[in-house]
Amino acid sequence: TNALVWLRRDLRLADQPALARAAQTAERLAPVYIHAPAETRPTVGAASCWWLHHSLAALDAELASAGSRLCLDTGPSAERLCHWAQVSDAAVVYCTAIAEPWARQQEAAVAEALAAIGVRLEVLADGLLTDPSAVRNRSGTPYRAFTPFWRSVRAQLDPPRPAPPPALPGLPEAIPEPQPLETLGLLPRIRWDEKLAPCWQPGAAGAQQRLERFLDGAGPAYGERRDFPAQPGTSRLSPHLHFGEISIRAVWHAVRDAQQMQPAAADALDTFLAELGWREFAYHLLWQQPELHRTPIDERFSRFPWREDPDGALLDAWRRGATGIPLVDAGMRELWATGWMHNRVRMVVGSFLVKNLRLPWQHGEAHFRDTLVDWDLASNSMGWQWVSGCGADAAPYFRIFNPVRQGERFDPDGDYVRHWVPEVAGLPKSHIHQPWAAPADARARCGLHLGRDYPEPLVDLATSRKEALAAFHALG
Ligand code: FAD
Repeated sequence: TNALVWLRRDLRLADQPALARAAQTAERLAPVYIHAPAETRPTVGAASCWWLHHSLAALDAELASAGSRLCLDTGPSAERLCHWAQVSDAAVVYCTAIAEPWARQQEAAVAEALAAIGVRLEVLADGLLTDPSAVRNRSGTPYRAFTPFWRSVRAQLDPPRPAPPPALPGLPEAIPEPQPLETLGLLPRIRWDEKLAPCWQPGAAGAQQRLERFLDGAGPAYGERRDFPAQPGTSRLSPHLHFGEISIRAVWHAVRDAQQMQPAAADALDTFLAELGWREFAYHLLWQQPELHRTPIDERFSRFPWREDPDGALLDAWRRGATGIPLVDAGMRELWATGWMHNRVRMVVGSFLVKNLRLPWQHGEAHFRDTLVDWDLASNSMGWQWVSGCGADAAPYFRIFNPVRQGERFDPDGDYVRHWVPEVAGLPKSHIHQPWAAPADARARCGLHLGRDYPEPLVDLATSRKEALAAFHALG
């Protein structure tokens, strides 16, 4: 029999359950990707589409070197998969699950349409180490707090070792020409994306390289260096993991092997594994709250008195990295320039938006969704709810990050700020995180005129903090 593999968020050949199963059973096999943006909820952003374009190109090249090719098409998924199944004379379609609410509906619609033409859909688990719908605490309920979640999950985790890429059966004889990648419209019309290319290598080879570079380099010092945005202390695997360009089981085992080889690095790498645990937890929360990207878990926050920003000037200044707070601006500019932002700084810019500017966190969620190459429904929604104090196990609302203190602590020499905010680069490290408080002669020495070269702070940090706390207490 012939088969299709419906590729989705699993864009790799190695340790790919759907491809492996199909390769075992099918005489001929068509790997199909259907671009169906109207079926995803919420809408996928521009940076993520940029990544997808290049990831599909890399996958096509990988398939070509394995004697196959990627069959690209545009949705509706159910209708197009029926078409591809018919022209391929396929009896089965294999895919891996995406643990997001819209994807479950998509799978159900596809299964029904295929069944109507006598084709079976087989959905295999992938992408996570746990089943987000199945994890339960001792009293049989889902977890709301990370620490007990991870303690219990970690103790039971025993993912299988990753499988190598299978030998792929050839393509069915009568398949049509695939749609050219360029016609999917994944690249933006205004080519702002050219600056992303030097930062990333989408695809399985780039993912593997990131993992190896991390384990050989920053990994053993992850515990101490992961919070310092000027240092390459983290793996930058997030977009690769999101698109399934590397199997989560492969990452898990590579890290566990590194722990065996270098016992001195075991603790640091345990911290890294716990970060993978946060990713698992995000999906567990998303499973509990399908509207995680817009509905606060703590319902009181639906009544939060957000600040009026009628012409959108505050939000706009935040997005552009023009708030006058160097660490916040550095983060927002890093995001715009590279499609990624350091985790510590994501927390700082988030806290500033929601607490100092007192604007709804959903605005931040939407901007990150549009601009992050690693945008992930579960992790981004959890991250914003955490920062805003309205999520499960969130930082309490009254914990308001002070961006000046955060800068002094995590960017002590000011290197990160100097890189992204060159306007203030001439200030000494003692003042780089609060140029408005620098003596006039220190500013004059480096030719910095606040309000002309770099904005005055958009809000006073102490006053806005007090206002935020008052608004929170009024919630009751
Ligand atoms: P590493 O430190 O190398 O961590 C390894 C992997 O663990 C990451 O690739 C990621 O898959 C996972 N991970 C690490 N931290 C977290 C976390 N806090 N939550 C969930 N998973 C985590 N991460 C995304 O992948 N996509 C998002 O859209 C996203 N949005 C965020 C929004 C906010 C407001 C915040 C505070 C965090 C967000 N994160 C998101 C989590 C985190 O910032 C990124 O995963 C991390 O910065 C990615 O860089 P890295 O791969 O070098 O991470």
